[in-house]
Amino acid sequence: MPQKKCSFCGRSEKDVKLLITGLNGYICEDCAQQAYNIVMETGALAQGKNGEGEAFKLKKVPKPREIKKYLDEYIIGQDEAKRYLSVAVYNHYKRLQQPKDDDGVEIEKSNIIMVGSTGTGKTLLARTIAKLLDVPFTIVDATVFTEAGYVGEDVESILSRLLQVANFDVAAAERGIVFIDEIDKIARKSDNPSITRDVSGEGVQQGLLKLLEGTMVGRKHPDQDYIHVDTRNILFICGGAFDGIERKIAQRMNTHTVGYNSVQNVAKIDKNDLMKYVLPQDLKSFGLIPEIIGRLPVLTYLNPLDRKALRRILVEPKNSIVKQYIKLFDMDGIKLTFTEAALDYIVDKGVEYKLGARGLRSIVEAVMMDAMFDVPSRRIKSFEVTEEYVRQQLDKAHIQKSDTAS
Ligand code: ADP
Repeated sequence: MPQKKCSFCGRSEKDVKLLITGLNGYICEDCAQQAYNIVMETGALAQGKNGEGEAFKLKKVPKPREIKKYLDEYIIGQDEAKRYLSVAVYNHYKRLQQPKDDDGVEIEKSNIIMVGSTGTGKTLLARTIAKLLDVPFTIVDATVFTEAGYVGEDVESILSRLLQVANFDVAAAERGIVFIDEIDKIARKSDNPSITRDVSGEGVQQGLLKLLEGTMVGRKHPDQDYIHVDTRNILFICGGAFDGIERKIAQRMNTHTVGYNSVQNVAKIDKNDLMKYVLPQDLKSFGLIPEIIGRLPVLTYLNPLDRKALRRILVEPKNSIVKQYIKLFDMDGIKLTFTEAALDYIVDKGVEYKLGARGLRSIVEAVMMDAMFDVPSRRIKSFEVTEEYVRQQLDKAHIQKSDTAS
C-alpha cells in the first residue's frame, strides 16, 4: 500500500502532525491552514452561513451617494434614475438586515420601475449596479414569458436563473436582485395593431404579480427535486420603453391644467422634458394591471439621449467605446487617436441614423474595421482617425438608416 502523502505539499504522514483524508487525496495541517488563509483573503466566506454575516453589515454597504458616484463613472446623465436606484438598493440592504424581534415596524420592499426609450441606459444601469453589489443578480426579458401551453418560458423561470447565478444557494438567491426588461411588452392589448403575437397578457401578469408580492415558488434543481424560493426579499427592478408615454403625460397634464390656475401651471411645464412628470397612472394605458403598478412603487425615468449626451457617451464612461478601441490597438503596441472632428462626425451619423447610443458602437465598428484588419501587420506606432477617414469608411460600409432603432 503506497504511503499516505499530503496532496498539496507532498510531505508524508510521518512528517506532519495531522493528515486529513479526502475522497481522492489528503491534506496536512499546514496546507489546510494556508488554504483557509486564501479563502479568507478572497472574501469567499464573507457572507457567513445564513447570508447574514460580514457582507451584510450596513456600514460595509456603499451609501446612496457612493452608489451614485460609481454609476456616474459608467453612465452619462440620467441623474434622477441613478438617485432613485441608489436609494432603492441601499434600502434593499437595510431591509435585509432589519432585526426580527422588533417594534412592529417592518420596512417594506420598494420594487422599481424605470421608464425610458430603448437605448437610454436602463440595462446598463442595472448591470452596473450588479457589478458593484454583493448579491445575486439576473436580467430577464419579459417578452419571453408566455402563459402555460405556449412555447416560451414561464414567469417562475426567473427564479431558476437567479438560483443559477447564486450557485443554488437558496438563501443568497432569496435576497437577490432581478432586472425585468421590456415590462411594457407583457401588457400588449389585443386592440394594439402592432402586435405580432399575443400570448402574454393577463396570465403572465398574474404570474409576475405572485413573484412581486412575495410567495414561495418551487423550482426544479437540474439534478435534484424541488427547491423552494421565497421571493419576499428579492428586489425587482423593471424597465420598459413605454413608447408614446410622453403623449399620455402631456394629455394628462393638459386636462389637469384646464381652468383655475391653468395659465400659471402651463407656463411651468417644461414641454421638452415631459418624462420627469411621469406618474404611475400613465402606465395604466399600456395594459399593466393596477396590482402590478402598485407593486412597483418606485417609478423613475430615463431621458432620451440628445447629441450632447451621445458625444459624451462616446468618450467619457470608464469603458467607453473609444476607450475600448484604444485598448484594442494598444495591445498591438499602436497608439490610436481620434480627432475631435472625427468624433463629432460619428455622433452626427448616430443622430442622423436614429440609432441612439447603441448605434454608436456599430458606427465605430464600421469605421475601424479596415484598420483593425490591416494595422496589426503593419509596422506603425500610431494611428489617427480623422473626419475624412470616418467619412470614407462609412461611405464604404453602407450603414442603413433606422427608424426602429433598437
Ligand atoms: P436600454 O436598456 O435602455 O434599452 P441599454 O442600457 O441596453 O439601453 O443601452 C444600450 C447601450 O447604449 C449600452 O450598452 C451603452 O453602451 C449605451 N448607453 C446607453 N445609454 C447610456 C448612457 N446614459 N451612458 C453611457 N452609455 C449608454
